[in-house]
Formats: sequence, structure tokens, C-alpha cells
Amino acid sequence: MNVDRKGYFDRFGGRYVAEILYQPLEELERAFNEAMEDPLFIEELKRMQHQYVGRPTPLMKAENVSRLLDAEIYIKLEGYAHTGAHKINNALGQVLLAKKMGKTRVIAETGAGQHGIATAAACAHLGMPCVVYMGSTDADRQQPNVAGMELYGAQVVRVESGSKTLKDAVNEALRDWAGSFGETHYVLGSALGPAPYPDIVRTFQSIIGKETKEQTAELGFIPDTLIACVGGGSNAIGFFSSFLADDAVNMIGVEAGGRGEKSGEHAVRMSDESSRDAIIQGYKSRFLVDEDGQVLNTHSISAGLDYPGIGPQLASLGERGRITFTRASDREALDALKFFAEHEGVLFALESAHAAAVAIKLAQQKSLKGKTVINMSGRGEKDLFITSAVLRKEEWRSFLLDELKRLEETDV
Ligand SMILES: *Cc1c(COP(=O)(O)O)cnc(C)c1O
Repeated sequence: MNVDRKGYFDRFGGRYVAEILYQPLEELERAFNEAMEDPLFIEELKRMQHQYVGRPTPLMKAENVSRLLDAEIYIKLEGYAHTGAHKINNALGQVLLAKKMGKTRVIAETGAGQHGIATAAACAHLGMPCVVYMGSTDADRQQPNVAGMELYGAQVVRVESGSKTLKDAVNEALRDWAGSFGETHYVLGSALGPAPYPDIVRTFQSIIGKETKEQTAELGFIPDTLIACVGGGSNAIGFFSSFLADDAVNMIGVEAGGRGEKSGEHAVRMSDESSRDAIIQGYKSRFLVDEDGQVLNTHSISAGLDYPGIGPQLASLGERGRITFTRASDREALDALKFFAEHEGVLFALESAHAAAVAIKLAQQKSLKGKTVINMSGRGEKDLFITSAVLRKEEWRSFLLDELKRLEETDV
């Protein structure tokens, strides 16, 4: 096991990997630094962000909601990016980097499937073969996303080891990479993992904050408060990064409060006493682990917020007090999703609805001063299978039963 001081954010981060992975991580770091200095790379990425992803994503004033809550609320509509969430920013950047490095194959891990879809799409766009590792439990639960990845031509490999979820998919991807890095790039999906991944992912996601800064400046203001949901932390750090140097900008990260306070019922790493320092999957951070270092179960209604760890930079900024962490429950997220849908015509992804829920809560407590921007990291169409099952269970049940019947009666 190798450790150096590179890639640390206070005591978090680092590069805790098997010897064999040291070389590809070094190679990746060099290539990334070069790419960031290469005007051709930057130009090509910009062109694709515009023509393919649809950037810049809009910033809108939520007029109705602002009036109803007596606050001034704006939404960065990041979920309007292609594939429906911010994940494409990182996926596209990394796949382009892989190409520049001369790699001929891309692998990725995915939990709920959002990062898998984004990577599969980016690979299809850039003509790269793509393998996505996915825990078989996740793959069973998230069939629509598996279908999406396969439509984009990716091979989805079901991982049957361990709990058959995200952490097992990461382990499997790392195992593949250790034996294939000569021709393969591993596209990691959030601002975590061994250095240099937290820096790479933040850099590619920082387009969210850069645009927000320009868009608010055009409207003549600097935001007083920024709110983002935090799973691994990539949308949050990308959104916050352009404003970190300005101490007047208040930043709030929202974790998944799930359905209760007890261990296993939520995924709160920062705004809770129960998390610990641990070294897992190549980096040091705050994790939900027991006294023996075993990863605890987590729960969130949103598939993207139930990761047991948090990106190292966010962990350090949280401990320093630069970012305030709080939580929203499943119920609060659902209520916020309905509120913004009904009053603003904007459908938040369940993850992003956690950020919206905190904006509502603070406004109701009269503690949301000045101008607030919520990052809507994703749009909610992807969640219709989950929200329908909760909000209109009976209708949804008969729809699914009818669908099953139709499926069996027709053969296309
Ligand atoms: C994956 C995902 C998240 C959580 O991931 P971060 O790395 O914390 O951003 C949040 N929102 C959406 C829509 C996602 O797909």
C-alpha cells in the first residue's frame, strides 16, 4: 500500500491503493494536467459541451415559489443537460481524456445507473467501447437504466460479489483496471476515490459553478446562499467551487436523511455523529462504518444519495465550517419535488429535491436571507418509477400489471 501527501484535503483524500494501481494513477494525473494546459483539448470539450450536452444549462428565477415562500430563489437547471443530470460533465471530460491518452477501452462503475448512462452515452459519442460494472441487486432494481446503457452500446456486467451493490461494482472495476490499464481508462463517477480522481471530477464538474457565477453576474448579483445535494459530492463541489474564495457566499450541502435517525435508515455522513474516519476504496474520508470498519447499510429514497462515504474535499470543507451540512428526509424531498413541480413547472430529480427541501425549510423559518441558488443536479423523469410507487401506488400497480399482460400478449 502506498501513501503520499499528494491529493490531500487536510487529513482527507490521498491515494491508498494496491501497488499495481500506482502507475495508472500517476499516468492519469500527468495526462490530466497536460490536458488542462492544452488549448485543443479545452476547445474540443467546450464544443461538445455546447453541441452535444446542450450547455450552458439555464439559470431561472423561481418566481412563483419565491412569492409563495417570501424568499428569492433561483434554480440552476443542471438536470437539463443531456442524459438528465450533471454526470455527463464528468463522463464526457474523462472519456475525451481517455482518447487523448490513446486508450481504446473505457470502464465505469455505476450504482443507480446514472453515471453508467452518462458514460455509455459519452463513449458512444466518442466511439469508445464501454463496459459498466453494476451490482446485480442494483441492476435488477434499475432496469430502465440498464436498458439505457445497452441502447448506447455499453456492455453491462452484473457484479454478484458482496452486497451486489455500488461498492462491489467499484471493487470489480478496480480489479479490471489493475489488469487492463495499458489500454483501458477507468471513469470514476463522483469526486472521490484515490487521487487524482477528486481533482479531475471537480474540475470537469466546475462548469456548473462557473456558469452560475456568470449567469448571476449577468443578472447583477452574487448569490448569498448556494444549496446542493451531496451523495459522493460531485455536483456540490462543482457548483460551489467557483464561489469558495468568496466568504460572503453561504454554502449548504444536503445529505439524505432517509426515513429515520437510526443506523441503516439514512446516508448522513457529515451532519451526524455516527460517521467515522476510514480508508475505503482508495481514499480517506468520513464514512458510515461500524467500530470494526465494516461499511454500514444506508437508505435514501434517491438512488444517488445513498453512498456511505463522501468526497474528501467536501469532508474537509465541512470540518472547516466553510460548507454547512444538513439533511432532508425522504418525505421532505418528495414534498419539495411536488411543490416545485406544481408551482414552478420544474421537476426535480429525487436527489436534487433534497436541496429544494432545505430551501423551503429555511425560507419557512425566515432564515433564507438574500438570493439563493439551488442546484437542480438532475431532472425527475428518471424517478417516475419510484415517485409513482409512493405517490399513487394503486394506479401504478394496475398499470404495471396491465403492462405485464400486454407484454405477454404481444410479440414484437
Ligand atoms: C448521482 C447523482 C447525485 C449524487 O452524486 P454527487 O456526486 O453527490 O453529485 C445527485 N443528483 C443526481 C441527479 C445524480 O444523478
